[in-house]
Amino acid sequence: MTMQGSMQVRKDWDTYFMDIAYMASTRSRCPRRFVGAVLVKGKKLLGTAYNGAPMGVPDCGEEGCMIAETVELETVDGEERQVLKQRCVRTIHAEQNLMLFTNAADRVGATVYVTDQPCWTCANILANSGISEIVFHRPYRKDHERVSTMLANTPIIFRQLAEYAPPLQAMLGYTE
Ligand SMILES: [Zn+2]
Ligand SMILES: [Zn+2]
Repeated sequence: MTMQGSMQVRKDWDTYFMDIAYMASTRSRCPRRFVGAVLVKGKKLLGTAYNGAPMGVPDCGEEGCMIAETVELETVDGEERQVLKQRCVRTIHAEQNLMLFTNAADRVGATVYVTDQPCWTCANILANSGISEIVFHRPYRKDHERVSTMLANTPIIFRQLAEYAPPLQAMLGYTE
């Protein structure tokens, strides 16, 4: 008996764990951004998290998003201009929840897979969390430069899965 014909290309570990991060993101109740993150060490899953309101507190699905507006500088066609941005501040970010729900000892030398490139605050927290690698999929332009620069000063490996395609189920209902 041969296995020929039934052989499938096996998922690599990056795809496997990023898929799990995307599935965790489907638990998010903030319609503006579904973010999922997982902690992995030695190919073992040590924790999963998504962005959400603190336990017992109404979330965006119940009370609507809590919108904060900020003016940011953006460079468009080489010209710097001020842009008004809206962001939901109701939720604890997935990366921060992941840090709250995992053990410090487990984090040492571990990898965080996160659906979106960490924001400035999360990147700082991750940099001090003991982990040794951050793998993300969707870019987050706002903080890209300062996050990359900051992480380049640490031993943490910071990489994007540019070729990755999320599982279709995880993208249903995603509005951005
Ligand atoms: Zn929200
Ligand atoms: Zn964040």
